[in-house]
Amino acid sequence: GGAFDPHSVKRDFPILQEQVHGKKLIWLDNAATTQKPRQVIERLSRFYEHENSNIHRAAHTLAARSTDAYEAAREKTRRFLNASSTEEIVFVRGATEGINLIAKAWGARNVKEGDEIVVTWLEHHANIVPWQQLCAQLGARLRVAPVDDSGQIILEEYEKLLNPRTRLVSLTQVSNALGTVTPAAEMTAMAHRHGAIVLVDGAQAVSHMPVDVQALDCDFYVFSGHKVFGPTGIGAVYGKKAILDQMPPWQGGGNMIADVTFEKTVYQPAPARFEAGTGNIADAVGLGAAIDYVERIGMATIAAWEHELLDYGTKGLLSVPGLRLIGTAKEKAGVLSFVIDECRTEDIGKALDREGIAVRSGHHCAQPILRRFGLEATVRPSLAFYNTFEDLDALVNALLRFQSGHGGR
Ligand code: PMP
Repeated sequence: GGAFDPHSVKRDFPILQEQVHGKKLIWLDNAATTQKPRQVIERLSRFYEHENSNIHRAAHTLAARSTDAYEAAREKTRRFLNASSTEEIVFVRGATEGINLIAKAWGARNVKEGDEIVVTWLEHHANIVPWQQLCAQLGARLRVAPVDDSGQIILEEYEKLLNPRTRLVSLTQVSNALGTVTPAAEMTAMAHRHGAIVLVDGAQAVSHMPVDVQALDCDFYVFSGHKVFGPTGIGAVYGKKAILDQMPPWQGGGNMIADVTFEKTVYQPAPARFEAGTGNIADAVGLGAAIDYVERIGMATIAAWEHELLDYGTKGLLSVPGLRLIGTAKEKAGVLSFVIDECRTEDIGKALDREGIAVRSGHHCAQPILRRFGLEATVRPSLAFYNTFEDLDALVNALLRFQSGHGGR
């Protein structure tokens, strides 16, 4: 009794009833973005129908409602990440903006010429480019922790990169291209032993597993709401309070100030200091509803179901002649990346779309890790808790048909 039923949660997602090319949609592009349950869609409507106002400023009823809803979403986000205080949760547009905020606000004050920043080969471009830009600007050096042939970080090689010049390590918790779950807590502890601080990119982790920033002991954590069944345009930065308090703002404007004269501006403490201007109030509230939704199911339940799906999907895909899985680490979440001998990934993606199956084919904004495997692109089905064994059967059967159409053996 009480077993998780993916067919029943699927009914919470109106778009999963959609037809494409006369077939019922099978959404296996969850690493790119996740679909939204009715509970999130309705929460957005309720906000605009009953609560909409700018926050913090005016002393009227709707301002109080919207401020309460926005701050309640911050508290839900705090609880979701197990941060110790809402003062450690900054709302941003998403993981990309979060990483840029940290690179600009923290980096400007803490990185100097000759310093080093460490990333890994697994990183999404969002966790490469801002550091490359910072290093170029300040004369610092970007160093990269390598992976083995399974797509897992080689910890001994990572540790060799750490030294007294290392200011920051920025690593993904789950690779969006391969699905590798990195040993983020261990890598954080190793960085700390060398005096470096740590940013964990949780964009691909939050929808697949329970996250506990205190257990990870990372200094920063970022994620995007749209990858965890919430709206686009909202995400969060977690930062340890002592570190956020020492950081200058990165953007100036309303909301982030305590007092302004032409001579001098006094800034608010975190998080307001990092939230200049009118934020994405409605979508923050929508994110709060998404968090409530997944927490009602339970992240541990979701993780367990997705492991079953991942095992089932791996076996199914390996039954397709000529198919090669890219990313075979022992610890994986959410992603099954593959290529098929002599087939263009784009053609595979189009053939699947004709059967109603949505997957991403391409470089997944992670060119370095694909090139590590000698590839420019893979086909990437990616999972969420509303996926079923039937979805994966449909994927494998479509690939087998594609193969036979291709004269494959
Ligand atoms: N990091 C990882 C690991 C990702 O998968 C993504 C999104 N594909 C990002 C960062 C960037 O997220 P966003 O585009 O929502 O800012």
